[in-house]
Amino acid sequence: MNNALTPRRQALAVIASLEARGDQKALEGAIAEGLDKGLTISEAKEALSQLYAYTGFPRSLNALGTLNRVLESRKALGIQDDEGKDADPLPSGFDALGQGTEVQTKLTGKPFDYKFVPATDYYLKAHLFGDIFARNNLSFADREIVTVSAISALPGCEPQLVAHVAGARNMGVTDAELRALPALLEGKVGLAEAERLREALSTVLGDAHESVQTVDFSVWPKGQPNTAYAKYFTGSSHLAPMAGGIANVTFEPGCRNNWHIHHKQVQVLICVAGRGWYQEWGKAAVQLVPGVIVEIPEGAKHWHGAAKDSWMQHLTIHKDVQEGASNEWLEPVSDEQYASVE
Ligand code: MN
Repeated sequence: MNNALTPRRQALAVIASLEARGDQKALEGAIAEGLDKGLTISEAKEALSQLYAYTGFPRSLNALGTLNRVLESRKALGIQDDEGKDADPLPSGFDALGQGTEVQTKLTGKPFDYKFVPATDYYLKAHLFGDIFARNNLSFADREIVTVSAISALPGCEPQLVAHVAGARNMGVTDAELRALPALLEGKVGLAEAERLREALSTVLGDAHESVQTVDFSVWPKGQPNTAYAKYFTGSSHLAPMAGGIANVTFEPGCRNNWHIHHKQVQVLICVAGRGWYQEWGKAAVQLVPGVIVEIPEGAKHWHGAAKDSWMQHLTIHKDVQEGASNEWLEPVSDEQYASVE
């Protein structure tokens, strides 16, 4: 699936994205896998160091600490990882500002001057695109794969992501390589990272993409495909039975359950991620966002589900359960009814 990207570049992408996400546990595994596939220690260090300019020292230093621990434990197991080649020293009298300006112009496709804050303009040119990019143990294309993959894990930085997808092309990353990245990140990092990148690729390359909000950052388990209740649902859902008689239900965008009634029991919904709807027959729909709790009266006809453009997770608990409690499943929520709640 990712044959456009070499194993080495796949490793750089996954490691960078996990660095930005701050997921040290997954990063450990990704670093080990990368080293197994031929990524050198020098390249891993360089990628994680470069990222301080994009994700901040806290993320960068955490990740470098993880790299150090992984290397120590591999050494203890007798694994000899390739040190690789360090960056060549910069020539004496290296003109960081001059070269950085050149590199940045190539990356953005035109001269870029951040006149609003001249000091920041200087940092970008002389330091990031000068001092850092001049280190030749990663190529410019490698560095842009690292940057794009990391920004994919930064919610709210979408304009920067679009700019760096375009920048990656200017630095020699092929469109095939860029298109291979989302599936890689979806498998190794998360759906949210993949979705952000697909969105950016659709902006830059014109690839068709239907955007969805994800519940990928939810701390609640997604569980398994909800096959047992599928016949009472429109669309796909997941079910995660949890301790204490609590279940977490994950609805994909557009998914909702049929109109139904809980007899001789009260159902409580606690929305924990995403966005969706609860509606009682004859009443206005209530928007479900994290923190919203709905207590469904015994015998009330209702439905619940995701918004059309967002995943949604809610916990469900039944209380005041009486003898002979049951669920009565009724007709599906029609497309017209569903469309009317948005
Ligand atoms: Mn219900």
